[in-house]
Amino acid sequence: MNYHEHFDVIVIGGGHAGTEAAASAARMGMNTLLLTHNIETLGQMSCNPAIGGIGKGHLVKEVDALGGLMANAIDKGGIQFRTLNSSKGPAVRATRAQADRLLYKAAIREKLENQENLKIFQQEVEDLIVENDRVSGVVTKMGVKFSAKTVVLTVGTFLNGLIHIGLKNYSGGRAGDPASIGLAERLKDLPIRMGRLKTGTPARIDARSIDFSKLEVQHGDTPIPTFSFMGKASEHPRQIPCYITHTNEKTHDIIRNNLDRSPMYTGVIDGVGPRYCPSIEDKIMRFADKNSHQIFVEPEGLTTHEVYPNGISTSLPFDVQIDFIRSMNGFENAFVTRPGYAIEYDYFDPRDLKSTLESKFIDGLFFAGQINGTTGYEEAAAQGLLAGMNAALQTQDKEGWCPRRDEAYTGVLVDDLSTLGTKEPYRMFTSRAEYRLLLREDNADTRLTEKGRELGLVDDIRWKAFSDKQESVERECQRLKGQWVNPNSVNAAQINELLKQPMQRESTLEAMIRRPEVNYSDLMKVEGLGPALEDKKAAEQVEIKIKYQGYIDRQLDEIAKLKRYEDTVLPIELNYSDIKGLSTEVVVKLNEIKPESIGQASRISGITPAAISILLIYLKKNG
Ligand code: FAD
Repeated sequence: MNYHEHFDVIVIGGGHAGTEAAASAARMGMNTLLLTHNIETLGQMSCNPAIGGIGKGHLVKEVDALGGLMANAIDKGGIQFRTLNSSKGPAVRATRAQADRLLYKAAIREKLENQENLKIFQQEVEDLIVENDRVSGVVTKMGVKFSAKTVVLTVGTFLNGLIHIGLKNYSGGRAGDPASIGLAERLKDLPIRMGRLKTGTPARIDARSIDFSKLEVQHGDTPIPTFSFMGKASEHPRQIPCYITHTNEKTHDIIRNNLDRSPMYTGVIDGVGPRYCPSIEDKIMRFADKNSHQIFVEPEGLTTHEVYPNGISTSLPFDVQIDFIRSMNGFENAFVTRPGYAIEYDYFDPRDLKSTLESKFIDGLFFAGQINGTTGYEEAAAQGLLAGMNAALQTQDKEGWCPRRDEAYTGVLVDDLSTLGTKEPYRMFTSRAEYRLLLREDNADTRLTEKGRELGLVDDIRWKAFSDKQESVERECQRLKGQWVNPNSVNAAQINELLKQPMQRESTLEAMIRRPEVNYSDLMKVEGLGPALEDKKAAEQVEIKIKYQGYIDRQLDEIAKLKRYEDTVLPIELNYSDIKGLSTEVVVKLNEIKPESIGQASRISGITPAAISILLIYLKKNG
């Protein structure tokens, strides 16, 4: 059956990538259809009930700055919030929140169901309609054909998903959900390179069987941070603590003694797992000198007794899981509610994607999320938003957009994937970005909201709040630059109390804040100098802008120098074998990756500055 309505954008999959993709295309006014296996699992967290963390929190803030869903949903569903690295510089500070799974999912679903231009249909997609290398629709399991100008594929770990518990394995997309077999087979016909990856999850435990008196408690921060730039702490539900326990020698012995029953160590699993989020058996083998690992005991929600023991992801047999869990402090009588497992799945080589996340070989087909070789809800959400937005732009015959590496972690993520590809599940870290001082969580709105507004992603309410904040920060910075104090001011004694050395000469308030020992809010408490801006986020911007301006200016200079060539376009049809002077290695790599710009080419390993100058000369002659 041909469905009567024609869509601008069809999104396949209702996970973290799919929900952001669908919402962003619809926000931009496109007639959008979200097709997913099961409406009840929209926004479902397949693994740990938490959002954010170092590098990941940055992505969430960027999604939020572009009007996305994730930050708002975790503000409504977060049950323990912390700012990680709070004692370090602003570039590496990151927000993390424990989630109540049900509240998080409900918040995502509420947003989607109330999103104008968006329809949701529950049905597995089994086929893509591709004519003359252009996608024109999809076919569901029931045989319904939906047509569209563009399609965004976000099917996570579901393609040929194979779940392993010990030496037993069975087909599944994640525990409780079917794998996508038909679609996986169909995709093999398309000119897209595919590979196999693996990830895993720990067993869950009934909290009533844990002796919490033996565990260390970890409370959230006060005041409670918020994720969304529009968020208010009053939106948060009740807050509860997490706990910490440890593995020990006995735990490690049990695991070591059973490696012959591990699918990982007996060669049953081929897929490569995430190096940065290893299973407990991996940790014990790789860090053999460590006799203990920290395990965070995280609640799964406010209305369930299940807890998530973060750090013991495993694919060992169920009986071994019970034994090693019960060897830990506080877990002696643990009742396991669900076994841990590993899952292997198909992914696509992201080097076959443009920076808009559109396939280089099939027009109108966009890819986002775990299928591009990433791991994590946040990485998926950022790609989803970008893919949905670019599908919407293409539908309107507009040029696509992707932030540069100096504009956003989302830009770093897409550039890393499309330039270098990945051999293991890719997760974001602050160390992946070369311009960390510019790409902070706190300034994601300054970096992206204006662009989001221009693209049609940011609504009037967010735009007004953003503009008001920018204006008050600017006004306050000007005031601090223009207001002077001196050793004879009436408030000099009060100011001197904040300083290491008493004031010797006249100074602006701006210069005063630049001193390491002075902070904006304390200085503003001095008679006649305040009050500080009431909006805490605006006040934070004032302080960071002033204190770090020197370093920020230096990074901006560096970027300006590089930018001269960064955006020089390399045509996709260019055959690098025709360019004289390039080494065979360089030709092979460039023909394989087909970089879109000189900047992207320069980041491919093995592409030397000499090769870049040959390319520039060639472009000048033939451009
Ligand atoms: P998913 O969230 O998987 O969503 C895919 C969606 O597509 C689902 O709604 C599904 O129903 C739908 N779908 C699939 N096929 C079809 C089809 N043919 N037709 C219609 N709909 C379809 N991340 C971490 O950061 N840390 C971890 O420790 C971690 N461990 C994990 C352990 C396990 C066992 C699993 C399964 C995942 C784990 N992840 C982990 C990864 C994390 O869950 C994903 O990165 C994230 O969910 C990816 O989002 P996504 O939107 O790409 O895909």
